[in-house]
Amino acid sequence: MKILKFGGTSVGSPERMKKLLDIIRPEEKQIVVLSAVSGTTNSLVEISQAYLNGDKRLAKQLTDVLYDKYKTFVQELFNTEEGKKKGNELIAYHFTLIGSLDTELFTPVEEKIVLAQGELLSTTLYHFYLTELGVKSALLPALDFMKIDEDNEPLVEYICNHLQPLIDKFPMVNLFITQGYICRNSFGEIDNLRRGGSDYTASLIGAAISAEEVQIWTDIDGMHNNDPRIVKGTRPIAQLSFDEAAELAYFGAKILHPQSVFPAQKYKIPVRLLNTMEPSAPGTLITHESEKGKIKSIAAKDGITAIKVQSSRMLLAYGFLRRVFEVFERYKTPIDMITTSEVAVSVTIDETKYLEEILKELQDFGTVEVDHNQTIVCVVGDFSYEAHGFASRVFDALKHVSIRMISYGGSNYNISLLINADDKTEALRSLHNRLF
Ligand code: ASP
Ligand code: MG
Repeated sequence: MKILKFGGTSVGSPERMKKLLDIIRPEEKQIVVLSAVSGTTNSLVEISQAYLNGDKRLAKQLTDVLYDKYKTFVQELFNTEEGKKKGNELIAYHFTLIGSLDTELFTPVEEKIVLAQGELLSTTLYHFYLTELGVKSALLPALDFMKIDEDNEPLVEYICNHLQPLIDKFPMVNLFITQGYICRNSFGEIDNLRRGGSDYTASLIGAAISAEEVQIWTDIDGMHNNDPRIVKGTRPIAQLSFDEAAELAYFGAKILHPQSVFPAQKYKIPVRLLNTMEPSAPGTLITHESEKGKIKSIAAKDGITAIKVQSSRMLLAYGFLRRVFEVFERYKTPIDMITTSEVAVSVTIDETKYLEEILKELQDFGTVEVDHNQTIVCVVGDFSYEAHGFASRVFDALKHVSIRMISYGGSNYNISLLINADDKTEALRSLHNRLF
């Protein structure tokens, strides 16, 4: 069985939704995972925010605007009066639900209910559309099988045990449709896999049912070997290993939700990144294989903050780094890059919600310096010890750029460099010319 995941733009209009049948072959056994119609989740975030702020009037106004969009969507998607009627009843149900949450007690629990409506709408509308066409399909409610634990970690075994029986209920059906992004948490409440989480859903389903392949359909032809918005002449990467893809998914390449690599990797399910606008293009295939002696891609991540803690107490001491890292742990702030010397440690973070608190605590350890507006540039490929010369080519390309931190040897697959955001364009172009 294959898993096909279509993102928000691939179902972004009735026209695009209809075009999915150019790609989906209804006679093949498959599970189709859909995101919400593009823009919907953003609107739902705004509606929840208005509710959380107690601004019921704004919430109602935003809800009405979104509802109107769906009324048009239904008119254009369905061909028959009966189809339109079913579609209208469906959207009326979901928007009534959103409207009914204007209680005094709008908490993060209600917020997640609101956020879940986008995927519930897109999948059911598509299922109704297929039914109108006479194409047999079945809906698999993600809320009945997709589950995370108290640390927001997905429970693959639970997913497997609950998904398969749902599939088995429809022995005559080949085409299954389910919601990306949404799940239940350890309390059984409606929750989600974080923004962009539909990729993660597809990968988890792939892992849970040992799928033949997971296909992520977006609107670009795979992962590119550099940022196409900045560098001319970038090319899609034909093949990546899971480790390389994981590095790239975190950096710049918005095309894949970073966590979605891991379930597929663990359960050895190939992942293919494909383009809805150009279905025959080969895209990017992600497998266990890593090509020896090749540099694959350059990526960058903006909005990075670097923090340096300098202390003579670090010299010959043990436990110093642990105490520094514990500060970040207490504020649930992930560290991305680390470099150390005997008397100083530098780390980078991209989540600055608790920056002030973190800095205050770090001052107990020594002198603290902060640099905002930094960019991590990451070069991904075969940087194993046997592969000579790549590192020097990277540094040669960047000889005119000031480098704040270098991280090499953390994995065999990447070199990361921290530079000033202002130097990013130059760094990406120069690396591209030197490496490809
Ligand atoms: N609809 C969700 C979002 O916009 C999940 C996804 O599209 O992957 O983040
Ligand atoms: Mg996405």
